[in-house]
Amino acid sequence: AHLDRIADVEHAVHAFLQVSGDAALAVAADVDARRTSGEELHALAGVPIAVKDVVVTKGLETTAGSKILQGWIPPYDATLVEKLKAAGLPILGKTNMDEFAMGSSTEHSAYGNTHNPWDLDRIPGGSGGGSAAAVAAYEAPLAIGTDTGGSIRQPAAVTGTVGVKPTYGGVSRYGLIALASSLDQAGPVTRTVLDSALLHELIGGHDPRDSTSIDEPLPALVAAAREGVSGNLKGVRVGVIRELQGEGYQPGVLARFEESLELLRSAGADIVEVSCPHFTYALAAYYLILPAEASSNLAKFDGMRFGLRVVPEDNPTAERVMSATRGQGFGDEVKRRIILGTYALSAGYYDAYYGSAQKVRTLIQRDFASAFEAADVLVSPTAPTTAFKLGEKLDDPLAMYLNDVATIPANLAGVPGLSLPSGLSDDGLPVGFQVLAPAKADDRLYRVGAALE
Ligand code: GLN
Repeated sequence: AHLDRIADVEHAVHAFLQVSGDAALAVAADVDARRTSGEELHALAGVPIAVKDVVVTKGLETTAGSKILQGWIPPYDATLVEKLKAAGLPILGKTNMDEFAMGSSTEHSAYGNTHNPWDLDRIPGGSGGGSAAAVAAYEAPLAIGTDTGGSIRQPAAVTGTVGVKPTYGGVSRYGLIALASSLDQAGPVTRTVLDSALLHELIGGHDPRDSTSIDEPLPALVAAAREGVSGNLKGVRVGVIRELQGEGYQPGVLARFEESLELLRSAGADIVEVSCPHFTYALAAYYLILPAEASSNLAKFDGMRFGLRVVPEDNPTAERVMSATRGQGFGDEVKRRIILGTYALSAGYYDAYYGSAQKVRTLIQRDFASAFEAADVLVSPTAPTTAFKLGEKLDDPLAMYLNDVATIPANLAGVPGLSLPSGLSDDGLPVGFQVLAPAKADDRLYRVGAALE
């Protein structure tokens, strides 16, 4: 049914870079046979899933939305993909994304735009616009995204889907093509909070192949979601982050936010206001730390090991091959960030830029720590606006970066965040409501999220 739906709408949405229909059908048939023979299977066995193209899949081209990886067929699976396969989830294909996950609109993909199913002239968010659009367009019931600064939550917000960035270290990063290793996390994109909990529990947990993986059992996420469905939040303290509302937020976004607060209140939650004064500097710190880490992570794409190799006719030394390959293989946004990152890390500037940004990061972590003394969860709009028009912010990187203002603090502090739909703005487009919890307390996201659904 999902492959039929893809055949019907994909030409207009372009959520996928590749559809692996035959392989998905083979897995589905195998799961059917095992179920018929009485085998006990995972709750999600047989439920198809779309995977963001930054996640490595054995035998299935993986490009991270970049020309530099065109044609690269990975010889192994990411840990999370191994888990999907072991549980019997058919993989429908790989979804479109901003190149190397840099962007908020999926317009930086080297393979064309993805369109928002709510309005095809608008962006589906980014960088994981393909995963969110696939779920919103009913091309896939589940998808995997990655979130370095909001790339799961912001696309979920602007497409009316649910997206979760787990606690840093909660889901293995083994087999994710790294953007910024200290910020990256993979997580679910789904249509309901309970679906996200099921998927998160499946892909999460300790992995010795990721040195930053948390060596503890995950909290009981599905149980928390089921508890939330009862709609009782008596005694739960919900902190509204003062710095993430007001100026710069669309009136329709704020109106839906206030309504969600009312719903929380009527479910018995105590609403308090908290202040996180250093969040004002989060965006500036992020856009130094991310390019710094990215410039180092992307150094391996040199035309020698993976994908594209461009050999200049004249004097093709190794250095000139690398330079020609990177010149042609990387898009403008990637080059912009490599230049910013290498500059911020260079001798003489390191302390002023990267060093200061790391200090700000610590202050943001402290803001979270004191806010979580006053509240069990924190809430804000997920993004300041609804989906903007394709092309609207493409020539203005700073305007594009501003869209991440509410999602970035969670990545800098490593805390988990969930975005769920909170109705439509005056323009008829979906608005997202963000819930944040302390590290390793991802269960709180599901309890509060499910109560709001
Ligand atoms: N929009 C952010 C950026 O461009 C988020 C990226 C991400 O989460 N992968 O960096």
